[in-house]
Amino acid sequence: MNRFDTEDAAEQPVGRDLDAQGGDGALGAELADAGQTSAADLISAALGNTGETPAAGESAAGDAVEALRSFHVDIFTLFPQMFGGPFGESIIKRALVRGLLSVALHNIRDYTTDRHHVCDDTPYGGGGGMVMKPEPILRAVETVLAQPAGWALPASDAWVALPPWNEHEAAQLPADTPIVLLSPQGRPLTQRVVSELVAHPRVALICGRYEGVDERVRTQLVTDEISIGDYVLSGGELAAMVLVDAMTRLLPGALGYELGAHQDSHSPGTGGLLEGPQYTRPFSFRGEAIPEILISGHHANVDRWRREQALLRTLLSRPDLLAGAELSKRDRALLAAHGWQAPL
Ligand code: SAM
Repeated sequence: MNRFDTEDAAEQPVGRDLDAQGGDGALGAELADAGQTSAADLISAALGNTGETPAAGESAAGDAVEALRSFHVDIFTLFPQMFGGPFGESIIKRALVRGLLSVALHNIRDYTTDRHHVCDDTPYGGGGGMVMKPEPILRAVETVLAQPAGWALPASDAWVALPPWNEHEAAQLPADTPIVLLSPQGRPLTQRVVSELVAHPRVALICGRYEGVDERVRTQLVTDEISIGDYVLSGGELAAMVLVDAMTRLLPGALGYELGAHQDSHSPGTGGLLEGPQYTRPFSFRGEAIPEILISGHHANVDRWRREQALLRTLLSRPDLLAGAELSKRDRALLAAHGWQAPL
């Protein structure tokens, strides 16, 4: 295996690739001034600073692999700067540089028209906290989704030169672009949901803040609502990052070794099980040696061992997953021998 084509290699600096692709855009200026490579630089680089995503199948990595395609994410947030760190490192950074992924960060506040750029207000009926107003969110999402993937409002046009928008009537939105509200009330994020979303060419993510969004954002705009767990975050930004990370791993070419994501826990290659234990050098560490079978060179036996370990680990840590897993007769027998009782 080519050493560069490993997940580990994605951690290596890719400054030369970036330099070859152009400078920073308005969103990246602040971090770039600090001498850093920001996510916005990468986003800008991935777009080639033209405001357009690469054509399907086209990438900085070359066009040898036909299945490569470009996936676009529009993120609507009050805090676009939060995305700099996670999107400027590792797998996401490499996918951006290679043009497999493009991301446009849209500041919801840019779509306000009042003097103070207000995006929140007190809740009707009283109660603490603030609620995000519907107009800036609907205006932002409807404006952006009316444009080709990769478009973003030029910074100089924020507040002052917004494209026309009909406040009274819903816009016609692209049917193949899910509009996802990150929300603790959404359907739980699972690997299946991730695969489902990444199958679209473009996805829009709305990050709530404060006590959440005005209900009319849900009733008039949102097509999907996703929760990353049964706990409450201060905003949807971290949830959006989690979702983008999980989707990026499934983009062909993003990991460099295609079966990687396929064989992860919860993925088709493991039939919905957890992945078993993994080892690397040294052979023996603090007196604990790796299982001999892994150096036997007998691939069928290694595969069988891995399957058994995946089954046992799932039984131990997440027995609930076994009910939905694809299990052979042999798998069932092994599990039964370890005390598992198949659901009736
Ligand atoms: N009052 C809301 C409720 O009880 O459902 C919670 C609002 S929360 C403080 C603010 C924002 O954080 C939400 O609008 C949502 O975008 C995001 N958020 C919080 N928890 C989340 C979760 N578990 N998954 C996804 N997004 C979440």
